[in-house]
Amino acid sequence: MKELVIVSGKGGTGKTSISAALACLAPQKVLADCDVDAANFHLVSGATIRETHTFTAGFEPHIDEAACSHCGKCTSLCRFGAINSGIITAPLNCEGCGVCAFNCPEHAIAMKEKQAGHWFISHTRFGSLIHAELGLSVENSGKLVSKVRQEAKKMAATEHLPLIITDGPPGIGCPAIAALSGATLALAVVEPSVSGMHDLGRLADLADHFRLPLAICINKSTLHQENTNQMITWCLSKGLPVFGQIPYSDTFRTAAQSGQTVLEMPHSDVKKELTILWQNIASHLRLPSQTSTLDLLLQKLNIFR
Ligand code: SF4
Ligand code: SF4
Repeated sequence: MKELVIVSGKGGTGKTSISAALACLAPQKVLADCDVDAANFHLVSGATIRETHTFTAGFEPHIDEAACSHCGKCTSLCRFGAINSGIITAPLNCEGCGVCAFNCPEHAIAMKEKQAGHWFISHTRFGSLIHAELGLSVENSGKLVSKVRQEAKKMAATEHLPLIITDGPPGIGCPAIAALSGATLALAVVEPSVSGMHDLGRLADLADHFRLPLAICINKSTLHQENTNQMITWCLSKGLPVFGQIPYSDTFRTAAQSGQTVLEMPHSDVKKELTILWQNIASHLRLPSQTSTLDLLLQKLNIFR
């Protein structure tokens, strides 16, 4: 089973639109949305939720009011000012350390697992999608990303599907590391701008650190051809393959507004470039039945014309 993770240095580069287009082209796959802080893959893929699961991470105190003698010990011991004589007054400040529970003379506090969000199995136009929603002010997105990946792998194994396509989180922080570690291939979606060049450098360093194969897709490549050329030269000097150059197209915006992928739009002007991108990925991953994959691809493109 192969795992393709699509990442970007920041939000707004077109990462999800390109992930959705690849989901449209790949014939046999499970989809995963690891951008758990701002999940939106379900919006472009017409997701219908089939299963909802609770995600727990860390612990929080639960107080037995009847047992509490209001001695105030927990107030004085809590370094985060979260509790006041047996009443949680600032829940967002609580770090779940358990000091209050451990020292309560009346044993009135129990530490229980904290609900930190939900993860879902959905049906979409392109197959099954595993996605998630992190609770407000919860900082365990790396753990939730790992959970989404784990469930996507389980589903791919159960359904004998050779590929997982993951819309990864933006940036190079904990969620991105959780999404990338151990993947088969990372595809960095970057824009031809100065900040895009900087983002590409950081993603390349991250991939290098984890010894992860990295390929590049330059999105909106026609916006600044000189920067695009510079990026390509830089990638070549680092031995990083440029799998795709997608020209700027308004169709991405209209597709997103209508809840579709850019390939499903009647007059999409980027079909050819996205097809080349997918062919490069499929060939790199040595996906099974390469010939039938391309046949299906051509059939799809004929349908969309
Ligand atoms: S330490 Fe225990 S008994 Fe004392 S106020 Fe806190 S919860 Fe109540
Ligand atoms: S678990 Fe720790 S942070 Fe939370 S209220 Fe108790 S002492 Fe304070």
